[in-house]
Amino acid sequence: MQQITKSGSPGLTFNSRNIFIVISFHVIALAALFTFSWTNLAVLLIGNWIVGGLGVGLGYHRLLTHRSFSVPKWLEYTLTIFGTMSVQDGPVKWVSTHRIHHRYTESSRDPHSTRAGFMWAHLFWILRGTAQDHNSATMAKYVPDLIEDKIHLLIDKFYYVPLLVSGAALFLIGGIPMVIWGVFARVVFGWHSTWFVNSAAHFWGKRRFQTDDDSTNNWLIALLTFGEGWHNNHHARPSSARHGLRWFEFDLNWMTIRVFEKLRLASRVRIFDQESQVVQGRVAEPSPSLNA
Ligand SMILES: [Zn+2]
Ligand SMILES: [Zn+2]
Repeated sequence: MQQITKSGSPGLTFNSRNIFIVISFHVIALAALFTFSWTNLAVLLIGNWIVGGLGVGLGYHRLLTHRSFSVPKWLEYTLTIFGTMSVQDGPVKWVSTHRIHHRYTESSRDPHSTRAGFMWAHLFWILRGTAQDHNSATMAKYVPDLIEDKIHLLIDKFYYVPLLVSGAALFLIGGIPMVIWGVFARVVFGWHSTWFVNSAAHFWGKRRFQTDDDSTNNWLIALLTFGEGWHNNHHARPSSARHGLRWFEFDLNWMTIRVFEKLRLASRVRIFDQESQVVQGRVAEPSPSLNA
């Protein structure tokens, strides 16, 4: 195993496990074209918000990777379990990759640098080399907070179980068509939405902040990802829980954090103050390795 995936390195082998998973999900998702119903569409959209919004954007990204707010452990684990159903690997691997992305953005050590091309950043990095299978030294360096948490290690190890349970539940409710829409089509839609943050939101859009990377604010990707597409704002201030900084920058994940706060479920919420140009919160800044 390599310590860090080298972007675009011609020496990388193909990752047969990931290629099999990505192709088979896409092929089965095509069956959605022949099994449409409004109920199945609703299952996909609601499932995509639970998994992509609450799980990946709020859980894996803003909470676990950047610790931009805190919630009770039971809620942290619940959001993480939602995130596992995205089939983007477990929380330990996902968070490792994303912290490395922030530390080495657009360099040869960035797992999905756009300098190696749009398709590399979007998808090909997943299909080559070790992808997110970081070795133990890398994980000890980047996710010490997660690997000392036994519950997160357990969720990471059995990350595919919640998806299997949800698939069985959907089968009992709506048969194979609902599984096609609620699992396979939903996963493929969620994949490309997340992957567009790595690709399109480093290629196309506006740059409010002159960061050292190519990150952009892309309204379309923000709509697809419940606010994660305000990616230039995010790279400028990674520890801010709020990504959409202006009133017109729709950020449903931020609105959800505000609801959690009103319900007294979220605390120590960090926000980017536009006047003072600093991230304000009720706790100290996280260590540079989370933020660099
Ligand atoms: Zn990025
Ligand atoms: Zn981030």
